[in-house]
Amino acid sequence: MVEHTGPKSLAAFAEAQQYIPGGVNSPARAYGAVRGNPPVISHGRGAHLFDLDGREYIDYVCSWGPLIFGHAHPRVVEAVQEASALGTSFGAPTPAETALAKQIVQMVPSVEMVRMVNSGTEATMSAVRVARGYTGRDKILKFEGCWHGHGDSFLIKAGSSALTLGAPDSPGIPQGIASLSITVSYNDAGAVQEALRQNPGQIAAIIVEPVAGNMGTVPPRAGFLEQLRQLADQEGCVLIFDEVITGFRLGPGGAQEYFGVLPDLTCLGKIVGGGLPVGAYGGKREIMQQVSPLGKKISQAGTLAGNPLAMRAGLAQLQMLGDSQVYRRLEEVSQCLEEGMAGNLRQLNLKYTLNRVGSMLCMFFTEAPVVDYPSACTADTGRFRRFFWELLRRGVYVAPSQFECLFPSAVHSDDDIEQTLRAHYEALKAAH
Ligand SMILES: *Cc1c(COP(=O)(O)O)cnc(C)c1O
Repeated sequence: MVEHTGPKSLAAFAEAQQYIPGGVNSPARAYGAVRGNPPVISHGRGAHLFDLDGREYIDYVCSWGPLIFGHAHPRVVEAVQEASALGTSFGAPTPAETALAKQIVQMVPSVEMVRMVNSGTEATMSAVRVARGYTGRDKILKFEGCWHGHGDSFLIKAGSSALTLGAPDSPGIPQGIASLSITVSYNDAGAVQEALRQNPGQIAAIIVEPVAGNMGTVPPRAGFLEQLRQLADQEGCVLIFDEVITGFRLGPGGAQEYFGVLPDLTCLGKIVGGGLPVGAYGGKREIMQQVSPLGKKISQAGTLAGNPLAMRAGLAQLQMLGDSQVYRRLEEVSQCLEEGMAGNLRQLNLKYTLNRVGSMLCMFFTEAPVVDYPSACTADTGRFRRFFWELLRRGVYVAPSQFECLFPSAVHSDDDIEQTLRAHYEALKAAH
């Protein structure tokens, strides 16, 4: 399949590559997995994205999750404009950061206090530090196929057996750090139990995406999150839900509300910032009161943390999410997409796996049920690649990898969905 990127985008991306490694500020944007060059974006409006060549796309990336009301929503734009006219940063307390913190505490069931940071990565790195400081333990337990940003402790793959140490997943990460991260299979509570048994009194935190969204969409098995809660309690570990994707997406209270299982600490990002660079971590007062300048003074700081533009944008978006119609619409849009895609597959006599939880959706190019990382990896990525370009050519913009979710927004229209499903059918057909 030939790529379908326009001449202006190609020229702009070639120039970017001279000055920025790979031409991108985050590697997935480089289209390596689909072996081509990305369209370079000029602007977005609602659910639509426009590139330098004037091509228009229906956008299911939505900045990889944050834009639950699409691009340039008037209320978010207005909030940023108002805030910026008053000064872009003070490095001093402002009412906007309290307003957003209060809004988060009101919406997310387990969060009693919250610290603002500038990205999801900072949120997970900080939450792990706090868990270590709070428990006085060094190791963490995480799951294969979950992504928690690019912190050293997370870029660690499992050793070759349960008894071997973790191994760095990137140059630049010391083996000493790798040896503190234990990685087990997603949805495997037995493996968690075994890891806890082998490391008694040593594991500070269990960190998990309550719905995995970085290996496609992989829902937790019934009872899995409850088992993690129980095991963490038994062993005195801090249970961290990385809700950077699920937070404010699966409902106002995220996955913890959706599944009724409360973690000790929650990491937020993406939606919480309304499209500006924001992350947050929060949880039980007892734990959060150990963060500097309080209690044990666990260190964590940020010059631009709580930035007034970002706080106002996030607040505008979270306030709009207070309207229950929004989640009804999100569910409706997502369900229509899922059913339409399932119908297309049937018509073409294909039996690919569709996973969906709320507005997280993924079609895997495999007939196997996808419940963890090894099963996600049974997907035919070559087929995905052909499908991807056929879809983009027809004006539908999805993430350039099999292992990402589609993120419908509350502003995708019925027309958008209909057009998407038609393109989906034709692209599937052309890819086979
Ligand atoms: C995106 C993501 C992160 C990292 O957030 P950044 O803002 O990219 O640093 C962490 N955890 C999960 C689950 C994510 O999807």
